[in-house]
Order: sequence, then C-alpha cells, then structure tokens
Amino acid sequence: MMSPETHAAPDLVDDVAERLADVRDRIRAAATAAGRSPSSVLLVAVSKGHPPEAVAAALAAGQRDLGESTAQELVAKAAAIGAGIRWHFVGRLQRNKVKDVIGRAGLIHSVDRMPLAEAIAERSHAAGRVQRVLVQVNVGDDPDKAGCSTDEVGRFVGRVRELTGIAVQGLMAIPPLDGDPSDHFATLRGLRDDLRGRFPEVQHLSMGMSGDVESAIAEGATIVRVGESVFGPRPSGTAPESSKRKRA
Ligand SMILES: *Cc1c(COP(=O)(O)O)cnc(C)c1O
Repeated sequence: MMSPETHAAPDLVDDVAERLADVRDRIRAAATAAGRSPSSVLLVAVSKGHPPEAVAAALAAGQRDLGESTAQELVAKAAAIGAGIRWHFVGRLQRNKVKDVIGRAGLIHSVDRMPLAEAIAERSHAAGRVQRVLVQVNVGDDPDKAGCSTDEVGRFVGRVRELTGIAVQGLMAIPPLDGDPSDHFATLRGLRDDLRGRFPEVQHLSMGMSGDVESAIAEGATIVRVGESVFGPRPSGTAPESSKRKRA
C-alpha cells in the first residue's frame, strides 16, 4: 500500500539512533551475563505517545519491531510510515477495536479474556489469517490490573487453542510497580515452562521495559518492550496499563 512517507528530522534520527544503540548494548550485556545469545531477545520499541517521525527515526536506525498500546495510534502511525515495520500491539484491547488491529499488528501481546480471543479469532479467520498472540498474565494477581489470573492461564490457553484464526505463542506480563520485578518475571517463566510441556508452541516471554530489561532477560525474556529508553520521555497519560483514552 502506498502512503505519504514520513521523514524524521536529522536531530531526531541521531537521538533515537543513539538511544537504540544504548538499549541494544544493555540487551547484549544482559543476555551475555545470563549465558544467553543476544539474538534470543527481540527488542520491541514502544512508540506510544510519540509522533510518526519518531517511528521513522527508529526505522532509519534499523529498528523494525515497533509497539503501540492503542488502536488509534497504531492506525495513524501505520498509515504514516507505510511498509517496513513489524507492529506489535501491547495495550489493552477492546473488542470493537479488534478490526483496526487485525492486519496491522503481527503480534498482539495482550489477550486476556475469552470474548476478546473470540473476536480476534473470528476477524482474523474471516480475513484468511491466523493472528499470532500472547496471553497477558496478571502476575501480581491485582484485581485492578489487566491480564488473566495465574490460576486461570492454563485453562485459558487451552481454550484459545481450540479457536481457528488465532495462535498463542507465549505469555506477556507487566509486573506491579512495587516489589521486585524479578519475582514476577520468574513467575511468568514458570507458567510458560509448565504450559510449554503441554503446548509446545507457547514459547515467548514478553517481559521487561525500560527500567527492568536486565532482570527480565536474566529470567528468560524473549521479547522486551522498551519505550522511554528508546524514544525519551513521553507526555503524561500514556503509562503502561493506562486504560484512559487520550483526548487530543
Ligand atoms: C508503554 C509500555 C511499555 C514501555 O514502557 P517504558 O517504561 O517506556 O519502557 C511496555 N509495555 C507496555 C504494555 C506499555 O504500555
């Protein structure tokens, strides 16, 4: 699809390229320290709250995996940039926004309830696709947070696997703000290890953000989702887990 191409200002390109190099160094160091290959960790640069020019700058610096947490931003930036990006959807997803995400995001990280899984499967199957997804787990079992409970995740994954048009490839978590994230990352890894015994395609562990990439990689993260360390601070109202709709 042709679309007007968004170009990044040279200063922004340099800035994002420099930050990306730092983040890649952190990933390399953490993987090496954990006895893992750096290539076993995929960096998803989360561009939410930043303009399309920032995405163009990341792409110019060789970053192809980008993440968004609202359908609105995903649609706008995908249209502005055109080809070349592998989009990840990492935020809370409402059923009525599924149609905007299918066909744009290669991987949806945040499937946590049956009606959402069914809506994704239905849309995707109708479009002749199989949507790759991760199941988001509420590792802190906090009733105010998104994610399937740790008790339910095995059953939930089993049910989603029965659907046509959707494929569960792993688990995702956002650890609670308080406490040591390592414990929560270890919990997610334990759940993944159990599930993988039954369902071999459940491989990925999407965990680790700007502040805790190292401990997530030490605990086995295969995908890290990094926003601020790549793009700099973003305007308020776009924190992880924020379910508030932004008003322009
Ligand atoms: C914003 C966001 C991130 C990135 O967070 P940073 O702290 O900026 O690295 C990761 N995951 C999700 C789900 C997010 O919403």
